[in-house]
Amino acid sequence: MTTEIDRHKRRLLARLQDLDAQRRGFLHDEARLTEEVDPDPLDRARAESGASELEAITESELREILEIEAALRRIDDKSFGFCDVCDDLIAPDRLEVMPWARLCLDCAEEEERRALPMGAVDLVTLG
Ligand SMILES: [Zn+2]
Repeated sequence: MTTEIDRHKRRLLARLQDLDAQRRGFLHDEARLTEEVDPDPLDRARAESGASELEAITESELREILEIEAALRRIDDKSFGFCDVCDDLIAPDRLEVMPWARLCLDCAEEEERRALPMGAVDLVTLG
């Protein structure tokens, strides 16, 4: 079991590095573009600040980074691999696809249903 967790940890760290490299690449392109089109010193100062670093990554990437970091914390406190809601073991093939999963399949589906917009929930309930 420990080796399984180590393997997932390595995958999570690799994914985190990928996302980080992707973000840096994006920033690099963005900075070059700004320089070519309009070398406004104010824009360049903004591009180099931490605030624009956050803006440069998409919301889904940011969420993935946060989920991976949370998964790494769960590995440290030994709660990795257990569902956050019902404490059941998360299926190994689910962790294979999503090593950062914090819910078992049942609870994840339940959460997804709750996250649907009101109209969609009504339709599901009525149907
Ligand atoms: Zn669960």
